Amino acid sequence: MENNENNPLRQFFRRPAVYLSLPSGGDAYTSDDVEWPEGGKELPVYPMTAIDEITTKTPDALFNGTAMVEIIKSCIPAIKNPWNLLSNDLDSVLISIKAAGGQETIDVESECTNEECKALGTYGINLQVLLRSIQKGDYDKPLQIGDLTVYFQPIQYSTMNDAALKQFDIQAKYKNMNKIENEQERNKTGQDALKEITSLTMEVLAKATAKIVTPDDTEVTDPKYILDFFNNCDTLSYEAIRDTNADLRAKSTIKPLTITCDECQTEYTQPFTLNASDFFV
Ligand SMILES: [Zn+2]
Repeated sequence: MENNENNPLRQFFRRPAVYLSLPSGGDAYTSDDVEWPEGGKELPVYPMTAIDEITTKTPDALFNGTAMVEIIKSCIPAIKNPWNLLSNDLDSVLISIKAAGGQETIDVESECTNEECKALGTYGINLQVLLRSIQKGDYDKPLQIGDLTVYFQPIQYSTMNDAALKQFDIQAKYKNMNKIENEQERNKTGQDALKEITSLTMEVLAKATAKIVTPDDTEVTDPKYILDFFNNCDTLSYEAIRDTNADLRAKSTIKPLTITCDECQTEYTQPFTLNASDFFV
C-alpha cells in the first residue's frame, strides 16, 4: 500500500486501539519476525480496515492461512512475519485484533453441566478477561524418558497451519471408509488412515521437540533425527512424549472458562479453544 506522507488526512487514519504483550515474551523472534517498538515490548494493535473485513470473508484464503497472515500484518504491523508466530502467542494476537475493533465480548455456546438443567445458553466472554487468562506454558521443564531428556518448544503458525491442511486431506481421502462392504478391506483401510494420522502427529511432534539430550550430553536438535527416533522408539516412550507435549500446549492456551448457568445458576467450567480459520467469520 502506498503511503502519502503529505496527505492532510494522515492524522485521521486508524490508530492503535490496544497494546499487546506476547505471552511467550518474544525472545525467540528475530528482527525479521517482530519489530519491537523503542523501549518497550508492547505491540500496537490497529482496528481492521474495510479491506481486512473483506479478507475475513474469503473462504479459500482463510482455509489456507493467507487471510490470517494478511490481517495480522495489517493490524499489528510490528509483526513482520506472522507465519513464524509461536502457537502460544497466536491466541493473544487474534483476540487483541478483535478487541482493537471495539468488540468487548465474544459469544460462546455452552450447555449447563447440571444433569437436571442442561440448559443451552450463549454467553458473552469478555476479551480482556480472555487475554489475561492466557499463559505461556512451562517450556523449560524437560521430560525424562529412561536415559534421555526431552525438551519441548511451541510450534510456529506455519507448522500448525500446514498440519491442519494435511489433516484435512487425510480426512477427505478416507471419508467413505465406513462404506467399504468387505470387512477385511475396511479394516485395512482403517489402519492405513490411522498410520497416516500418526505419521503426521509424529512430524509435528518432532518440530515441537526443542532437543533430546543423551546421557553423554549430546544435544540432538535436528527434527529429522528426532522424527527418526519417534519412528523407531517403543510405543510407551513415544506416547509419554506425545502426551507431555499435548499437556504443555493445553496449559499454554486460554484457561477453561467459568460459566454461571442463566437458568439454574450452577457454576461450571468449559474448555475454550480458538480456531484461527473461523475466528473472524
Ligand atoms: Zn443450568
